Amino acid sequence: MVELLEIDGSMGEGGGQVLRTAVALSALLKKPIKVFNIRAKRSNPGLRPQHLAAVKAVANLTGARVEGLEVGSKQILFDPDEIRAFNIELDVGTAGSISLVLQAMMPVLAFSPREVKLVLKGGTDNPKAPPIDYIKEVLLKDLSLTGYSAELKVERRGFYPRGGGVVHFESKPVGCLKPFDITDFPGLKKVKVFVYSSRLPMHVAERIADSASSKIRSMLKVEPVVEYEIMRGDEHNAPLDPGCGILIIGTLENNVVFASNALGERGKPSEKVGSEAALEFIRQVEHKTPADKNLADQLVVYAALANGISSLRTHEITLHTLTTIKLVELFLPVKFEVQGRLGSPGGYRASGAGFRR
Ligand code: ATP
Repeated sequence: MVELLEIDGSMGEGGGQVLRTAVALSALLKKPIKVFNIRAKRSNPGLRPQHLAAVKAVANLTGARVEGLEVGSKQILFDPDEIRAFNIELDVGTAGSISLVLQAMMPVLAFSPREVKLVLKGGTDNPKAPPIDYIKEVLLKDLSLTGYSAELKVERRGFYPRGGGVVHFESKPVGCLKPFDITDFPGLKKVKVFVYSSRLPMHVAERIADSASSKIRSMLKVEPVVEYEIMRGDEHNAPLDPGCGILIIGTLENNVVFASNALGERGKPSEKVGSEAALEFIRQVEHKTPADKNLADQLVVYAALANGISSLRTHEITLHTLTTIKLVELFLPVKFEVQGRLGSPGGYRASGAGFRR
């Protein structure tokens, strides 16, 4: 019997990401784990349907035996086997975040013995989660530096409350990930303001785009390229519920990408949605750091697995980043060197474990 690794889910940030990353690494290293105190630092601790779906997804992929998999559960046992499912359809349930399920599955998919095709149903644009276009346009683009290869297609967006979004994800595995260097800020090549809106008046999307663009123009002296995705509601792939959002993507001269985003909410003026995303984007550019704070935490696991030294600079070191670093160090023989303090600009550097299939 392989020794059980015990993970305290309340460590650091103490949220869903501890669980998702732990399950991903358990599956990859074929190391059984017990995660206790799941989401202990949240007001609604324990597994929520969205976290349950992420664990289930990785369990399906790797034929894992799982105990404690029910809503509200504060402890699970996860005992993985080989990657054995290559076509998976999974319903996250109502508007549960598809991106967060992908966050748990993606590291595992990189080392599958063959291509894996996923069809995921649920929410595509959720608060406090990467919008699906962030996974497609930012995470996957920057991950391609490591050799990671996957295609993501949004068939239909899913907004709160009913969700119903459909996303196709096809990954081509790699034997080993290359390290990345996301430390230089050689200058901005392009700024794209992408605004999507469904079942809302046209002026909503225009006001979001105008407020973001004018801030970027005046503060950064850059003319952004504006793109819209507007659904009236009668299209065959229209989302079930109204919703809107903005993703601002910066592409650097060396093709590294970073982004900021904001979601529309009932009662929140469109101008505020646009300016919120723009101000966050401008803050990143002013610091001349190439990775946004979300990318910084999402790349930790790949730095830990890669074959060589990865390094990254970000405009903000978050508790998510520090927690994920602590967690991967429990699984792998890696030691991260962190520069900067929590809440400030900084970065990390690590010599990855060179994990191979
Ligand atoms: P909980 O309900 O426990 O807070 P959670 O499952 O939503 O948990 P977190 O632990 O808070 O998960 O992790 C959220 C993840 O989503 C992190 O990787 C974070 O970087 C990412 N994320 C959150 N907001 C954004 C955003 N606006 N853009 C990109 N990524 C985001």
